Amino acid sequence: MTKGPVLVPVLGDQLSHGLSSLADRSPADTVVLMMEVWDETQYVRHHKAKIALIFSAMRHFAEELRERGFTVDYITLDDPANSGSFTGEVSAAVARHKARGVQISEPGEWRVRQMIDAWRESLDVRVRVLPDTRFVCPLPDFFEWAAGRKQWRMEYFYRDMRRKTGLLMDGDKPVGGKWNFDADNRGGPDADCRPPAVAQFKPDAITREVLDLVAARFPDHFGSLEDFAWPVTAAQAAQAFDRFLKTRLPLFGRYQDAMMAGADTMYHAVISPALNIGLIDPVEMCRLAETEWREGRAPIEAVEGFIRQVIGWREYVRGIYWLTMPDLAQANELDATRPLPEFWWTGETQMACIADCVRTTRKTAYAHHIQRLMVMGNFALLAGLSPQDVADWFLVVYADAFEWVELPNVAGMALFADGGKLASKPYAASGAYIDRMSNYCGQCAYDVKKKVGKNACPFNALYWDFLARNEDKLAGNPRLANPYATWRRMNADKQAEYCDSAAAFLQTLQPARKGWARVEVGGGPRIKSGATKHA
Ligand SMILES: Cc1cc2nc3c(=O)[nH]c(=O)nc-3n(C[C@H](O)[C@H](O)[C@H](O)COP(=O)(O)OP(=O)(O)OC[C@H]3O[C@@H](n4cnc5c(N)ncnc54)[C@H](O)[C@@H]3O)c2cc1C
Ligand code: SF4
Repeated sequence: MTKGPVLVPVLGDQLSHGLSSLADRSPADTVVLMMEVWDETQYVRHHKAKIALIFSAMRHFAEELRERGFTVDYITLDDPANSGSFTGEVSAAVARHKARGVQISEPGEWRVRQMIDAWRESLDVRVRVLPDTRFVCPLPDFFEWAAGRKQWRMEYFYRDMRRKTGLLMDGDKPVGGKWNFDADNRGGPDADCRPPAVAQFKPDAITREVLDLVAARFPDHFGSLEDFAWPVTAAQAAQAFDRFLKTRLPLFGRYQDAMMAGADTMYHAVISPALNIGLIDPVEMCRLAETEWREGRAPIEAVEGFIRQVIGWREYVRGIYWLTMPDLAQANELDATRPLPEFWWTGETQMACIADCVRTTRKTAYAHHIQRLMVMGNFALLAGLSPQDVADWFLVVYADAFEWVELPNVAGMALFADGGKLASKPYAASGAYIDRMSNYCGQCAYDVKKKVGKNACPFNALYWDFLARNEDKLAGNPRLANPYATWRRMNADKQAEYCDSAAAFLQTLQPARKGWARVEVGGGPRIKSGATKHA
């Protein structure tokens, strides 16, 4: 019988000291394995800043584990012996350390779960997969919740999470007598709106080394590294969140849906990149936010709105992901097949709203929720872009993008590709919505008030064309009764004008060149990890 240590692989989004796979391990009997592998940088060709964030945070976390007395076997991307895959590295490490078993926390992505399940066959040691306890709702509980319902709706799930955590509760009643204060939120932008700056972290020596590595190895990936300032340790994430609590939380709800050109973060927390890789705990964040309300520093509508996003939406989309995969990745209820336009990558479009969203995305690997949903997502929905192309884009471009949270938001919330499992209606809107919630239209080459024709805002004709195109699938949705009633009241000429105008615009879209999101099949040699170092 082998007496070697237990090997604990810690993945790039598992950087939490309370991780289930580490919780019962003593340093004397454990080797932690951390791996920068080529395959994970390429299954989609991530934004440069996303790769830099994950590698830098991993290297910092490895240092912290060593300080706690753990032996950390850290495989860098440029290690000449790096096999390029999790499976290759775990198998090599089992042999190298004569490990008696492998223990890992469940991964965040279905693809990786398949890989880990296959280790049970390919490795001749015991593989133990533990639940990820960094979420409020264990997956079996979510499956049970969903199984008992005809329709899944976030609002009811969220109430259960409030009861479970005791957040914003007065005994068994919600504080203030209601669960949801959204009616007091969601104003548009105004002239007095001056969002305070978010916390920025100057790269230290570890981060600088990673930035050099990423610049050298991923030169043609989307995005820029110039403004890299993400928190890469738990201490920095706590500092960033504290800045949010003190300076932006009070107006979080008021400006939650507002967009202003150049105000890239508005009053949002800008915490998802650190949160999703495990540098900060979601419930702890919510307790701190609740304290701001209890001590009178932030209004209930802001705090409830924030907590709903974290223990409501974030937990809900995770449950939906694991419940509906792998089908969700192929879902296409509205038969949308148009390829992504090139300007989604370059930002070169006269549509001011899209140009601004792509600009901030390239620069920082971040855009706030309403830019993602009501500009990029809305355009994709109305133009009938392929859900798989859109999902690839979202997975590439945001520093917080991991499939468990990205895909349900794209396929379910933005594109209605799941046929309404996640959301009760498509988030479709014309230019009037963007005009009301932003200051983009005043700076745009298109005229938001014009409905059809050459310089009319494209969202206007696309909106009606979308409803017309999908009438057989959507007209029965009670939440779309009003728009369909308006559509039917229009005379045939007017309807045709909208559809012709939309068709003329769609014809101008230049499909994106291949290779932005995924390495082209047969598109030249696949450069393996370590190979370029010595080239
Ligand atoms: C099409 C689309 C794609 C998205 N892709 C991602 C993604 O890849 N990764 C990701 O973390 N979020 C994603 N979201 C959700 C949301 O836009 C981001 O979580 C949010 O913009 C992160 O910025 P923030 O920390 O400033 O969030 P805030 O607006 O300050 O909200 C606070 C926190 O609430 C959580 N949250 C809010 N809305 C959602 C939501 N719809 N789903 C899950 N969590 C939510 C996040 O953890 C966020 O950090 C997507 C939304 C859409 C519409
Ligand atoms: S006019 Fe239309 S395209 Fe231009 S910014 Fe407004 S919504 Fe966007």
